[in-house]
Amino acid sequence: MKVLAVTSEIYPLVKTGGLADVAGALPHALKPHGVETRTLVPGYPALLAKLGHTNKVMTFPDVLGERAALLEAHHEGLHLLVLDIPALYQREGGLYGDSTGADFADNWRRFAALSFVAAELAAGALDGYQPDLVHAHDWQAAMAPVYMCFGRAHAVPSVLTIHNIAFQGMFHPGIFPYLGLPSFAFAVDSVEYYNHVGYLKGGLQSATAITTVSPSYAQEILQHEFGMGLEGVIASRLSDLSGIVNGIDTDVWDPDTDPHLAKNYSASSLRRRSANRAALCRRFDLDNDTGPLFCVVSRLTGQKGMDVLADVVDELVSHGGKLAILGSGEPWIERALKDASDRHPGRVGMVIGYDEPLSHLMQAGSDAIVIPSRFEPCGLTQLYALRYGCVPVVARTGGLTDTIIDANEAALSSRVATGFKFSPVTPASLSLALRRVFAAYADPQIWTRLQTRGMKSDVSWDMSAARYVSLYSRLIKDRTSS
Ligand code: ADP
Repeated sequence: MKVLAVTSEIYPLVKTGGLADVAGALPHALKPHGVETRTLVPGYPALLAKLGHTNKVMTFPDVLGERAALLEAHHEGLHLLVLDIPALYQREGGLYGDSTGADFADNWRRFAALSFVAAELAAGALDGYQPDLVHAHDWQAAMAPVYMCFGRAHAVPSVLTIHNIAFQGMFHPGIFPYLGLPSFAFAVDSVEYYNHVGYLKGGLQSATAITTVSPSYAQEILQHEFGMGLEGVIASRLSDLSGIVNGIDTDVWDPDTDPHLAKNYSASSLRRRSANRAALCRRFDLDNDTGPLFCVVSRLTGQKGMDVLADVVDELVSHGGKLAILGSGEPWIERALKDASDRHPGRVGMVIGYDEPLSHLMQAGSDAIVIPSRFEPCGLTQLYALRYGCVPVVARTGGLTDTIIDANEAALSSRVATGFKFSPVTPASLSLALRRVFAAYADPQIWTRLQTRGMKSDVSWDMSAARYVSLYSRLIKDRTSS
């Protein structure tokens, strides 16, 4: 089976969040099932620099008015097709915006171009390559199914995965004539969305199947509270919607071999974690005394509930807890957490920024991770935490609901508990959960049981890859028999 994946980021080359992890890990997980994935990505300078050698395999004379080259490269087991359009991708700043964080004004063009080329490849534009299915990720690739529908690739099935419905790719209607779509595509059953052009909306209308990254989130986005305006469109595609929880790359995230740790360990040598705790305390200027060490590895945003965490930091410290924060995000939330760390020297430490190696040490050295998200399509940090014996304290939402078993009496006595869940996302409810954490932490037997049970949870891609394969197979079979 040949799958063309389309994504705007991919680990280990370019990453801003969980999408990159999924795009980077899924091809490896699908391989044993006989699925060959080629992944189409934009040729950002950072990505091209990391790839080094590439082969030009074809050119496109006109992609939304630009000449484009398609480069092929292999990197750590990934087979990449890199879309090289210097006018769109060769620039300073991040993947989606400039160094001030403002979105690039031509993002509509940058990601329409990516999707346009995906549809061309689906139509067999590259000599000797005919994908059986296109798997598009998030709004940046969501126009691929739209171009496929209105072009030569309408017989090729497509899957659109929603990693976060809050990001929809909504643009001014004035861009429509430049997209190269027939005029009737500007309609409510395609890309038109309240007199704007909605990329995710168009993709949801056109893709053969829609997935999201956990069963609970698939239910939630049908509701007004979580659907962010697209709940009606999704409800109209209910029979084509499913939720498949993300896995993690268990080779990259393995405490037994992870090169970023002060000391490697496994479930049978948990004592060795203390060297990582000590290293983490040094890095964050924290006292390495008794009492649980909590951590945060996250975008510091309202979605992630980081304002709620800021409200309970004083209480967490008053109970003898410590907190190490790694992240960046909305300035007012960064400030609130920075104030908390200034108020509590030795008890609360903060590193503002993005630091992949440090994120590994955080999972290996902390006792618990706090994830108070208001919504969470899947969440990866709780999965890394399980694997590293760092107990997750999570909001009861989306993928957090599906992947953590709350340490209630029944779950504790039957030894299946892996973490702590709370709802609603309020300071009162989080602080109640923290009190439960302190009580459990005070009993080493209970705590070790929580850690080891989490470390034995299956957080790999095995089950989820099998689900994607059966979805792909069904869609391909349906198309061939229709
Ligand atoms: P989202 O994609 O919504 O940001 P996820 O939990 O799905 O959230 O994925 C976040 C990913 O980004 C994880 O791999 C996490 O470890 C990583 N991450 C988040 N913030 C940082 C940071 N400041 N430094 C390093 N890694 C980070």
